Amino acid sequence: MRITILTLFPEMFDGFLTNSIIKRAIGKKVVEVKIVNIRDYTLDKYGRVDTPPIGGGAGLIMKCQPIVDALKNNAKPDSFKILLSPKGKQYRQQNAVKLAKLNDIVLVCGHYEGVDERVNNYVDELISIGDYVLTGGELGAMVIADSVIRLLDGAITDASLEEETFSDDLLEYPQYTEPKEFEGKKVPDILYTGNHEAINKYRRKESLKITRENRPDLFDKHIKTKQDLKLLKEIDEGVDEPKWYIDALEKGKKFTK
Ligand code: SAM
Repeated sequence: MRITILTLFPEMFDGFLTNSIIKRAIGKKVVEVKIVNIRDYTLDKYGRVDTPPIGGGAGLIMKCQPIVDALKNNAKPDSFKILLSPKGKQYRQQNAVKLAKLNDIVLVCGHYEGVDERVNNYVDELISIGDYVLTGGELGAMVIADSVIRLLDGAITDASLEEETFSDDLLEYPQYTEPKEFEGKKVPDILYTGNHEAINKYRRKESLKITRENRPDLFDKHIKTKQDLKLLKEIDEGVDEPKWYIDALEKGKKFTK
């Protein structure tokens, strides 16, 4: 995949591209990322890229010409072109999954008070990364590029993606590491049992619980299986562990290492 980012502040991407998983993905040629300075395309003799809005108002607006020329010179016929904008459609994991299937994406970062409205005619979609206003589209471009790159074959192990938050409209279950007890807080015993069926059930229950509590919007969208309904009933009745596990504990069986 190729990702091209049009920005007035190319240096903002230095850290993003030269660390961790993104750096490795670029090194392995899983993705090619090109950063283009929009200012290089301005025809203004003083190098200006922005002016006050027509009709009055605060701040400076990025002009059409430099952005459109940067697009014309860097987008390919099959590029999917996105303008970062708080007025765009809300970005979600499902968008990342769709974008990860494309060959070529171009991300256009606005800055200052925004972008001349007519730029919208040169892109395929306006995307917002959330209901807040940032100083520029650069962080949004990093959010989109990051969330897409990690889904590409070879970027990270496939297993890491399988049960993640948002797959299936559920948040991920809690994860633990050693030691077994940290400042009085224990890893749940069930995770040491080696019984994968029981562990999966426990995790599903935790996912349902946290999603219902923190993200009722997702919880409503999640298509509940028969097992989910049973687990939800158990949650509501206060049964935290499977019956076989409680019975075994009562009989004195030890599951911990
Ligand atoms: N005046 C604009 C408005 O009220 O809609 C806000 C402009 S904002 C300060 C400058 C630029 O930051 C935008 O053109 C856009 O590229 C980017 N930006 C700000 N918030 C964003 C968000 N939530 N999602 C995506 N891009 C955003």
